[in-house]
Formats: sequence, C-alpha cells, structure tokens
Amino acid sequence: MPTLLKKIVLLTVLATLSIVATNCSSKAPKTDKQEEVKQRYKCPMKCSEQLFDKPGKCPSCGMDLEKVSPS
Ligand SMILES: [Zn+2]
Repeated sequence: MPTLLKKIVLLTVLATLSIVATNCSSKAPKTDKQEEVKQRYKCPMKCSEQLFDKPGKCPSCGMDLEKVSPS
C-alpha cells in the first residue's frame, strides 16, 4: 500500500469516527431530559391532592393551578 493512500484512509477513518462520536454525545442527553421531566400542576389551595397534566383551573375551587416541581 502506498504511504499517501495509507494516510488518506487513516484520516478518513478518524474523521468518520469523530463525526459519529459527536452525533452520539449530542443526541443522547437531549432526548433523555425531555422524556424524564414531566410538568405537573395542582391546586394552590390544596383542596385536592389531584395532579393535572396541563395548566388550568381547579375543578373544586376555580383557582389557577400551579406548577409542581418534580423532585
Ligand atoms: Zn382547588
């Protein structure tokens, strides 16, 4: 194998590996976070322990629901 060709092949392999590594590291954390954190809402008057998936009004007292920090 000629030395120049060997160099080109090596560089191509290295470039491909670095591109694959960058893609993997940038993709994985994003999808994990978006699926883990799920925002919940509950009544601020604590008249009900029910949790809601969306913001809105409490069905019992009509107060605006407040965010529940996931812990
Ligand atoms: Zn309420």
